[in-house]
Amino acid sequence: MSFTQLAKDRPRLLIVGGGYVGFTVAQELQKRIKDSGGVVTVVDPNPYMTYLPFLPEVAAGNIEGRHAVVPHRQHLRDCELVGGRVIGVDHANRTATVQGVDEGETFELAYDEIVISGGSVTRAFPIEGLAENGIGLKSIEEAVGLRDWVLERIEFASLTSDEDERRRALTFVVVGGGYAGTEGLAEIEDMARTAVERNDRLQPSDLRFVLIEAMGRIMPEVSEERAEKVVAHLRSRGIEVLLNTSLDSAVDKHLKLINMQDKSPAGEIDTDTLVWTAGVQANPLVKNTDFPLDQRGRVRAGADLRITGDDGPLEGAWAAGDVAAVPDLTGGGVGGFCVPNAQHAVRQARVLAKNVLAARAGKPLEDYYHENLGAVAGLGLYKGVASIKNLPGIKGNGVEFSGFPAWMMHRLYHGYAIPTVERKARVFSEYVLNAVFGRDTAPIRHAREPRLNFQEATGTAPATSKASL
Ligand SMILES: Cc1cc2nc3c(=O)[nH]c(=O)nc-3n(C[C@H](O)[C@H](O)[C@H](O)COP(=O)(O)OP(=O)(O)OC[C@H]3O[C@@H](n4cnc5c(N)ncnc54)[C@H](O)[C@@H]3O)c2cc1C
Repeated sequence: MSFTQLAKDRPRLLIVGGGYVGFTVAQELQKRIKDSGGVVTVVDPNPYMTYLPFLPEVAAGNIEGRHAVVPHRQHLRDCELVGGRVIGVDHANRTATVQGVDEGETFELAYDEIVISGGSVTRAFPIEGLAENGIGLKSIEEAVGLRDWVLERIEFASLTSDEDERRRALTFVVVGGGYAGTEGLAEIEDMARTAVERNDRLQPSDLRFVLIEAMGRIMPEVSEERAEKVVAHLRSRGIEVLLNTSLDSAVDKHLKLINMQDKSPAGEIDTDTLVWTAGVQANPLVKNTDFPLDQRGRVRAGADLRITGDDGPLEGAWAAGDVAAVPDLTGGGVGGFCVPNAQHAVRQARVLAKNVLAARAGKPLEDYYHENLGAVAGLGLYKGVASIKNLPGIKGNGVEFSGFPAWMMHRLYHGYAIPTVERKARVFSEYVLNAVFGRDTAPIRHAREPRLNFQEATGTAPATSKASL
């Protein structure tokens, strides 16, 4: 089936995924391609680009969920926008298969050129009980839900007389000590402490936070020495950091841990909140395409961001970001490829957009080359860590610092980096409002069951409606 309202007879550049890469490429090309008689079509199940580095702050209520996303309809006005999921690509016949959102119709979309920018998805392992009881931190819905959940658990705990229930409600566990997990737990701890300080039936010492990391260190983005300081900082806040430890089972939210070095049992924890941030993998949608993939399931790309197989680059096919294996010409990266981060995604997108135009004009293509600029992370209000490299005047191993200056840098950098002036303004004004009025610790009750009030009014509410994450 083909969809009648979508553009026909206009050369189409199809962008699969409107996240960091897709949004940036669309922004750069939409007007030029429209003016030259073509169309840029963005297919994404979400009507927005999610600014993922803000998720920990959304989970901690420092940033409103809606402000951490950039709406496509508002900011990609010269594009054709399709709310759907690409479920397959037949590049030999220049056709993508799209399914509309909410189990909508499935249809074929013809294109002339394609950009594969579907990003990555959470990588979970077959750990018993994990799928049923865990939650990721990879989408705005998860971050918003997590914030409400943590605050609801605190309210619940403050009234229950059952000691076991109370302990479970006030225990928060994150598995994965990368940036997302470390920032996520540190931010949530900060919010939870504020919430408890405002509740005179609880003490901060009632709270328990645990970070579980399978490797011997956390945060591979900063030096080992700095990572050790972050661990010491987290521990000084009462956060348990368990290194060389992994999750063995999570049945009924009873966590069994194992020591990764000798595979011996490493303790048991009962918790209502299990957050899984232990890694990402390329979006599996690419397995349903005729594009060349590497061993890790990523689309193989050349340094010029054309999809490239054993016989050389494919005509009219481009890829970048987390879904693609792009050579890291600096000699860094893992296995010679760019690591999956926003720093690369947004810069690759700009080179990709330039190369699309260059290829059309028969001009030489540019290779993607980017020296890692380091990283900044927030660890709760006024706390952070930064590692800055390869900027003018900063060479070699760069400079690293922590505390308030790092937190400030984190805020300024991300507040500036979120696309569009309108979103920057929303984020910065929120920072100012929070500084004046303090953190907002009210959960939105029943956001996950919006019909509950109506069901209660009409006498159709379920007999018990125990909250679940
Ligand atoms: C919590 C968290 C914090 C992070 N913090 C940092 C940080 O501080 N610094 C940093 O450099 N990086 C950070 N990252 C990593 C960074 O956000 C990613 O590397 C970056 O978003 C990759 O961009 P992308 O365009 O490849 O993918 P994404 O930005 O994820 O975009 C992919 C898009 O594809 C869409 N999509 C998915 N499936 C389909 C489909 N079938 N059809 C059509 N569209 C589809 C998605 O809805 C999404 O909009 C963080 C990531 C997370 C999860």
